[in-house]
Amino acid sequence: MNDEVKPKRSRKAKQDLSQSEKVLEKAKQIPESLRATYLKAMSGKSRRAAMRAFCQECVCYSRAQVRDCTGYTCPMYPYRPYQGGTDEPEPESGEPEPEEEEGEECV
Ligand code: SF4
Repeated sequence: MNDEVKPKRSRKAKQDLSQSEKVLEKAKQIPESLRATYLKAMSGKSRRAAMRAFCQECVCYSRAQVRDCTGYTCPMYPYRPYQGGTDEPEPESGEPEPEEEEGEECV
């Protein structure tokens, strides 16, 4: 018989672990060049990153499709990134996003 006592984790701790695991799992499926934006958004510290990540996910991670979006009635439309061109730098990180990785299956 195993008398080892396992530390109990609260339901909240289990839920948090589960959420962070899910976020990391999803991040692995996002093109590497856009992954940092998603993780920044999920940190809860950047609304701008959240808007970028939302639009990127909406169009399967294609900057050109975000820029050329025709979802005129979407609440994100006035705020969508890349309206100034595909080489628009990532404003908050100071690091421009590398060239777009396209052609992979949308996640
Ligand atoms: S603005 Fe366009 S790309 Fe962004 S979420 Fe809306 S429909 Fe999708």
